[in-house]
Amino acid sequence: MRLDYLTIFPDYLAPLRLSLPGKAIESGLLELHVHDLREWTHDRHRTVDDTPYGGGAGMVMKPEPFGEAFDALAIDGATVIVTTPSGEPFTQALARELSTRERLVFLLGRYEGIDQRVLDHAATRAEVREISLGDYVLNGGEVAALAITEAVVRLLPGFMGNAASLVEESHSESSGRLLEYPVYTKPATWRGLEVPDVLLSGNHARIEAWRQEQSVARTAQRRPDLLHPSRAMGEWDIVPAV
Ligand code: SAM
Repeated sequence: MRLDYLTIFPDYLAPLRLSLPGKAIESGLLELHVHDLREWTHDRHRTVDDTPYGGGAGMVMKPEPFGEAFDALAIDGATVIVTTPSGEPFTQALARELSTRERLVFLLGRYEGIDQRVLDHAATRAEVREISLGDYVLNGGEVAALAITEAVVRLLPGFMGNAASLVEESHSESSGRLLEYPVYTKPATWRGLEVPDVLLSGNHARIEAWRQEQSVARTAQRRPDLLHPSRAMGEWDIVPAV
């Protein structure tokens, strides 16, 4: 998979080269290119933003540097990811979908966001996905891109040392999209706290049943929306006005 990032803070993306993604780059599984958007500016101040048409606070990212970057990087046919709080929520299912793409190009917003025409133009050349990390506002898209990248690349065949660890994870299809059960390691007693007996029993059927039960109980308590996906999260808290 090839990954491109268009940002005005390339240093922010340095952690991509650490740990497992770093190894995947060395092994050739991943090709990663971080680009400074200011490379495609031509004025003395290397300007990437301007005031919004229609007025209002803040600045908007100009279209021209993105347009030149699209041409130079030949984004045609890629999947362009625009990180934005107004995008579709990022989920494990979306991470899995993106892991099937050959090339992802991330456009990382700052200020009040990116001129809409950048997205409209990109959509004539590539698949455009506007993605939100959650219902809160970050200063820029870099942190969102790091999170999306990590969730996507760990699903690439050959990325994880032990692919079995992907199977029972929270939100995975194979676990029914439930949250994972609690996990324990040695010692069996620590500061007066015991590991549940069943995990020491060696009885795999009982262990499996206990884990399933814990998974369902935890999901019901913390994320009931996952058990009843037709109900949007928090919907049951809304009391209609009378
Ligand atoms: N004015 C924008 C709005 O209200 O939607 C927020 C702009 S935010 C200060 C600057 C940039 O941070 C956005 O363009 C986007 O790239 C990124 N960003 C902020 N929150 C995000 C989120 N929840 N998910 C993904 N990207 C986010």
